[in-house]
Amino acid sequence: MTEHRDPAWMTDDLLAFRDSVRRFVDKELAPKEEEFIAQRRVDPAVWLRAGAAGLLCASIPEEYGGGGGHFGHEAVITAELARAGVNSFGNNVHSGIVAHYIARYGSESQKQRWLPRMARGELIAAIAMSEPGAGSDLRAITTRAVHDGDDYVIDGGKTFITNGINAGLVVVVAKTGDGRDSRSASLIVVETEGLAGFERGRNLEKIGQKGQDTAELFFSGARVPRANLLGAEEGLGMSQLMQQLPQERLIIAVISAAAARRAVDLTVEYTSERKVFGQRLLSLQNTRFKLAECATKATIAQTFVDDCIARQLEGRLDGATAAMAKWWCSQIYGEVVDECLQLFGGYGYMEEFAIARMYTNARVTRIYGGSNEIMKELIARDLDPQTVRRQH
Ligand SMILES: Cc1cc2nc3c(=O)[nH]c(=O)nc-3n(C[C@H](O)[C@H](O)[C@H](O)COP(=O)(O)OP(=O)(O)OC[C@H]3O[C@@H](n4cnc5c(N)ncnc54)[C@H](O)[C@@H]3O)c2cc1C
Repeated sequence: MTEHRDPAWMTDDLLAFRDSVRRFVDKELAPKEEEFIAQRRVDPAVWLRAGAAGLLCASIPEEYGGGGGHFGHEAVITAELARAGVNSFGNNVHSGIVAHYIARYGSESQKQRWLPRMARGELIAAIAMSEPGAGSDLRAITTRAVHDGDDYVIDGGKTFITNGINAGLVVVVAKTGDGRDSRSASLIVVETEGLAGFERGRNLEKIGQKGQDTAELFFSGARVPRANLLGAEEGLGMSQLMQQLPQERLIIAVISAAAARRAVDLTVEYTSERKVFGQRLLSLQNTRFKLAECATKATIAQTFVDDCIARQLEGRLDGATAAMAKWWCSQIYGEVVDECLQLFGGYGYMEEFAIARMYTNARVTRIYGGSNEIMKELIARDLDPQTVRRQH
């Protein structure tokens, strides 16, 4: 496939950074993907090596131990992991999401306390929003944090939490007020080590992304200091989530575009070697047309993603555009991988072929980070004059 022209946001510094990330990913992560899948998590020691190599908290200021970069650095890391077929390493949640909640809403002492350890990989981070009874409808969460002296006492259960088994730090979305209104939830940082009343449940068996630890978390009278609240006051949780979710959604679009391209590259390689009816599979018109369609989709996705990254770097990526990128690129990723798998024939159904793993890994990108239906709802709200008027 023709090399995608490096976009304007990819500066010389970022190109050099990409080379160093690529070296680490190709040496330390990609060859171990099968091992991570077998043990259903990435070893904490690998996180420490990623920290030493500058892959963690790359977009967090240096004064807090981070790399001093910006979203472009996170995008480079995310795309490199997808390019190499690494799905197990939950850095996007750790660096791209949780670190930014702390950097943006944390007090000076909170930032000093957690970010340097996260940047070194000593503290692996997770964010716990979803519950068995509340995924898309986050206002239905029932996890509560109640005052008792200088502490919060947390009760409730979370599910589907990425990095849930490894996490030493969890940003928990909990109700600190009554009712379903937007001011009833807060973000509270929980340090899990030795915490009475905190338990990890199952490392959930998934159809894809099997090397990533996705777990249930339970809180039963777990005490954390009230000083662990993120933000100046209680009740800001929903608005903090709304402000940060566009970046999370863009990250999923970055993964999707890079992975769609990987699928095309793998399929071109395979079909140019595979012989059918005495000729290369790639010389059949159906193969050529299917691959032409897939390459076009992957290129358009990448071009849209590059535009969104540029907007994000300029601080003008709005929620509706991020939602468009998330749903559309993840949809394209699924379509491309499905078409590519077909061209592998029976081998495409065998787990030892990368395209088979991609097929199951891709599926969840349409579900998590806000499902694609919720993305369309957000876009429609932005189109509908009645809802736009109500928001202002
Ligand atoms: C592998 C994996 C990792 C995850 N990691 C995390 C994590 O780290 N932290 C975390 O908090 N959560 C995480 N999640 C949870 C994820 O964000 C939720 O699964 C997702 O938001 C959907 O919620 P749900 O599963 O409860 O589905 P539901 O909300 O029950 O939705 C079911 C279906 O109904 C549709 N639907 C719901 N509401 C509407 C509506 N208003 N209009 C139209 N259709 C609608 C949905 O689109 C979906 O198709 C993860 C999930 C998975 C699978």
